[in-house]
Amino acid sequence: MKSFLKIDSDSHFSIHNLPYGVFKTTDNQNSRVGVAIGDKVLDLSVIEKAGYFDSIISKTVFSCGSLNSFISLGKSVWSQVRSKIQRLLSDDSDLKNNLELINRCLIPMQMAEMYLPCEIGDYTDFYSSREHATNVGIMFRGKENALNPNWLHLPVAYHGRSSSIVVSGTQIKRPFGQILDAENKPRFSSSKLMDFELEMGFFIGKENTMGHPIEIKNATDSIFGMVIVNDWSARDIQKWEYVPLGPFLGKNFATSISPWVVTMEALEPFKVEGPLQDPQPLNYLKRKEYNSYDIKLEVSLKIDGSNQPKVISRSNHKYLYWDVAQQLVHHSVNGCKMQIGDLLASGTISGPDKTSLGSMLEISWKGTRPIKFENGIQRKFLQDNDSVVMTGYCQGNGYRVGFGEVEGTII
Ligand code: CA
Repeated sequence: MKSFLKIDSDSHFSIHNLPYGVFKTTDNQNSRVGVAIGDKVLDLSVIEKAGYFDSIISKTVFSCGSLNSFISLGKSVWSQVRSKIQRLLSDDSDLKNNLELINRCLIPMQMAEMYLPCEIGDYTDFYSSREHATNVGIMFRGKENALNPNWLHLPVAYHGRSSSIVVSGTQIKRPFGQILDAENKPRFSSSKLMDFELEMGFFIGKENTMGHPIEIKNATDSIFGMVIVNDWSARDIQKWEYVPLGPFLGKNFATSISPWVVTMEALEPFKVEGPLQDPQPLNYLKRKEYNSYDIKLEVSLKIDGSNQPKVISRSNHKYLYWDVAQQLVHHSVNGCKMQIGDLLASGTISGPDKTSLGSMLEISWKGTRPIKFENGIQRKFLQDNDSVVMTGYCQGNGYRVGFGEVEGTII
């Protein structure tokens, strides 16, 4: 399939992708839903008003500031709308000759100001990378106790705060809190150990009734799509506070996400087998299909005063030990109700070697292996005015299905 628009083969937004986002422009301050295509945004509110979705959707869903209304229509509608948009943008589309409509519905991407794509009711953060959990466990508790006894039996998680989830480009204020000084005495201070966490998150697309768990066999029907997540972390606050209830203020001051939601349908061709699970999970968590994805992930760091970002990690979604279906099924196994627009993040995605670590804590190994930049500058953790950029894509045959990027600067 080819688009009538010129799309570079390394563009994240090929006609095979079509991710959804919420945006505004200077000349139209209404936030509305669009789809990324090449270097353009297709304004779905215009397409909707022109009647192109009339045979599929009976109400207006794209003229509002979140994807929740559209998502609530369910998987079959998502799929029909996707096909419709794909046909509209394809080489033999009648849209390509309708210059008046094209002028109104195709907007240069740099003119679109992006917003959070969903109204996020609840946010949960998992801890699904075995490599990350092992690395952090070694640093915090020693090699013998690296993985806690439950880790290989269930996807560990904690409840985060949706109120501090922000879209890419939002500046992140360094948090204050309790940290330990050199004599192990608590003091009030700004965090000295600011970190990022390379993660991916998925949005819930279908609700279950409270008391009724989601089953593994149809778990992915309840997932709408995915984004890249930077779960900012203050390691010194985290280390002092986390016993016994886990992450709290070291985590909930900010979480950044990429603005374009890549649908599970677009990701389908990139499913791969995940890591072998030994011991076998309990029955309710046993995989029925592959739900790991070959998504190449990259983290760059641009330090204060430099214009040159440096790639400091290359990881992959497929390294996750617990896959998206297992995360969702475990979350609802007690009857917990999942709601449309809820965000479930994977936890830091670290890979098997030193080039694929998903946090500064691991890359600098608690500050003992600083990252070296030009002119002898080095970083153990993030300083003010440092920017972190995360990006990721799936490589198809001559095209990409990508996520764009999530950027954040510490202030
Ligand atoms: Ca995290």
